[in-house]
Amino acid sequence: MNTDTFRLTFWGVRGGYPTPGPTTIKYGGNTTCFEIQAGKHRVIVDGGTGIIGLGEKILAEYRATGGKICLILLITHTHHDHTQGFPFFFPTRHPDGVIFTYGPKLKEEKLESVLNRAMSPPVFPLGLEELYSQRKVHEVYHGDLIVSEAACATPQLYHLGKAPAELPPHALSIRVCHGYHHPRNGILFYRISYQGKSIVIATDTEGYIGGDQKLIRFTQQADVLVHDSEYDEHEYADEQPVRQGWGHSTWRMATEVAIQAQVRQLVLTHHSPRHDDAYLEKMLQKAQAVFPNTLLAQEGQTLTL
Ligand SMILES: [Zn+2]
Ligand SMILES: [Zn+2]
Repeated sequence: MNTDTFRLTFWGVRGGYPTPGPTTIKYGGNTTCFEIQAGKHRVIVDGGTGIIGLGEKILAEYRATGGKICLILLITHTHHDHTQGFPFFFPTRHPDGVIFTYGPKLKEEKLESVLNRAMSPPVFPLGLEELYSQRKVHEVYHGDLIVSEAACATPQLYHLGKAPAELPPHALSIRVCHGYHHPRNGILFYRISYQGKSIVIATDTEGYIGGDQKLIRFTQQADVLVHDSEYDEHEYADEQPVRQGWGHSTWRMATEVAIQAQVRQLVLTHHSPRHDDAYLEKMLQKAQAVFPNTLLAQEGQTLTL
């Protein structure tokens, strides 16, 4: 991989639960998983069912090239639609897998034990002793900075105010922001930067009137903002059940963040399982009327920065 490469691939773009079938074939039915390749670094955001196909691609590359399978895995939160692909993500079971995982501190349980529980009996046939990869799980907080200098080296984790003034060239950096508006532990936003460009991931978040100013500051001048857009406007407030407080946004809330943060490209994600391809395109048209550089996240699509 060229050291200048910086690209984002969508492996799962659906919220809630997987929705295969003819009406979702264009935008995809797998739950949330994004891949970011930055030079030799590979970052995966979330482990919805989209991560299963990504794991197969990674193992096919490994079979061709050998070496180690080195990954940074970022978890926004531990709801099923962001973790249900992990049991079938086979790089975790490979002896050459080296996986650095970062995710939220939860009120109920350690992050590592929640992830392990999803991959263990009695809900899965294989035990943890069959995870042959090297894995390290870190709980991260608002203001943290993760810096990766080389793909297989342990990334440095800096807490708020402790970050170095300058980062080495070719380093990949990841900033962490905690949003409060997703049940029950909130949500982590990630800003992934490489060679002066950045991608912000803001899924599973609900906007505020006037825009979420904490997220808007975190997102300033990003090249790409991937933002939750689960609802059309009438679904959010006017229809039963009223979905205010459920922790998801309308397309308009996503455009508010994009406009105020002056991002170059907005990508709407976390598509509702109730919305088929045709309905998503109607929502896209409304969003593009407000912020023209808007796309729908589409399974299999790659954006090159
Ligand atoms: Zn979700
Ligand atoms: Zn969620």
